[in-house]
Amino acid sequence: MKQSFRTFLFLLLVALPVLAQREHGVRPTDTGGPLMVEQASYDVHSYDVTLNVDPKTKSLKGKTVMTARITIPTNVIVLDLDTPFTITRVAEPTGLDNSMRDLKFERKSGKVWVWYPMTRQTGEEITIETTYAGIPREAPRAPWVGGFMWAKTPSGADWISVALQNDGADLMFPVKDHPSDKPAIAAMHITVPDPLVAAGPGKLEGIKKNPDGTSTYNWRMTNPIANYSIVFNAAPYRTIEDNVKSVTGENIPIVFYILPENYEKGRKLIEETKKYNAFYEKYNGPFPFRSQKLGIVETPHLGMEHSTHIAYGNKFEYNADGYDWLMLHEFGHEWWANLVTASDWRDFWIHEGFQSFMDTLYLEEIKGKDAYFASMKNRAKNTRNMQPVAPRESKIAYQVYMAEPDYLKSDGDIYGKGAVVLHTLRYLIGDDAFFRALRRMAYPTKQMETFTDGRQERLVNTDDFLTIAEEESKMDLDWFFELYLRQPKLPRLVSEVTGSTVNLRWETPNNMPFRMPVDVEVNGKIQRIEMKDGKGTINFTGTPPVIDPKGWVLTAQ
Ligand SMILES: [Zn+2]
Repeated sequence: MKQSFRTFLFLLLVALPVLAQREHGVRPTDTGGPLMVEQASYDVHSYDVTLNVDPKTKSLKGKTVMTARITIPTNVIVLDLDTPFTITRVAEPTGLDNSMRDLKFERKSGKVWVWYPMTRQTGEEITIETTYAGIPREAPRAPWVGGFMWAKTPSGADWISVALQNDGADLMFPVKDHPSDKPAIAAMHITVPDPLVAAGPGKLEGIKKNPDGTSTYNWRMTNPIANYSIVFNAAPYRTIEDNVKSVTGENIPIVFYILPENYEKGRKLIEETKKYNAFYEKYNGPFPFRSQKLGIVETPHLGMEHSTHIAYGNKFEYNADGYDWLMLHEFGHEWWANLVTASDWRDFWIHEGFQSFMDTLYLEEIKGKDAYFASMKNRAKNTRNMQPVAPRESKIAYQVYMAEPDYLKSDGDIYGKGAVVLHTLRYLIGDDAFFRALRRMAYPTKQMETFTDGRQERLVNTDDFLTIAEEESKMDLDWFFELYLRQPKLPRLVSEVTGSTVNLRWETPNNMPFRMPVDVEVNGKIQRIEMKDGKGTINFTGTPPVIDPKGWVLTAQ
């Protein structure tokens, strides 16, 4: 009774708010989608982002230096920068001393065309410096619909936050706003009024006190990083420093940027996060950013997986099972989003579905299998099945994250349905093959687990996981991926009782092939019905069999 009540509480407090469709009333701006040739023609190497941030006027002055390599000969390239900003100059180094020359540019609906006088050739390095200023878009519903937040701490100090995942980093700086191009290096130089402290990605290289009552925080991330993780948060933060030993034996530095009001609560969250790290390292391999840091930053919005500076805004609340579901979730994205990154938002589920699976697996880890099954059943009940989890065509983020046709609320299936599809795959191919496949999706080889210089990271898609799962299980899994991920509808398991026989058959959209086995409980004993050609038969005496008593297989209800 106690156990099931706790499980019920978990479902109520944790699973439902995550899975339920969330009304946003507003749609994010575009990020990702089909790549224009003027964007495909270069490969970003680094962004150096300088921002002078003024919370009084809610404005910023910025300069971004992008370095890139030309991949297709071109005399024009396209950057994204949100429309509220005014660009005063686009320039490139002349190559003589430190002088710069202007480049011609043109702006059209959030994009910047930069023209070269002569075609730049494949392999050529380019450097573009953009100077701009303005009042950035305020986030309508951070973190889901993003932008800037000009919040106040409980003591009334300025608390600045930026969340850009579904909208793209072009809401803050000029960028190639596409998930397929993570820069190898991202530097940030954030100037804020004293006593604000600006937290950013990677390592803090120094703080410079300026004569005008501001300070500049210099951050440098030397592992590839998604555009939406190149953000900052600022408040009169205090820091808690600690460290944790990785499964590799290396020491991972931990830094928590926390409001002074909550300082005492920080230690416990760090201790919790160490447990989450051990859990993730066990299943997914080593913490990927050992050469940088395990960073946590307290934010006025719920949270976001910013690599090496996880945004945390769950108010230090622990659920009925004693853990912080938000920290568990966002931190797990260091593997599923930041180590392994979908190269197009059509595969957003590799971030959210894989991580949601891990969230529920953690429940199995600390509470046992019954809690895991209860959570998965709940996730299965909440699937919407209106759009494919992993569509084949290129998508901008909100087309996958939010629900068709108006994209004003979240769809949720990339989370919950993604997790249950992995759960069903676990049943189909068995724990050994499944957990090997999961590990290989994170790190394809043992050698990759040893890298800390950025080579550990990969851009991936759904077919990569199909290939790995097929290799590990030695099974053909096309039919499984096609049905569950490439189209929205669920299969229906039809059972007909004649005398002492139950006939089972799969009914699928467009008669898609589906040979998913299913457990059947006959007189208290569970047996697996193989369902070759989508059909199976069980004979019984006494009470009719219970089909799929544990809820392994995702089906239409
Ligand atoms: Zn997430």
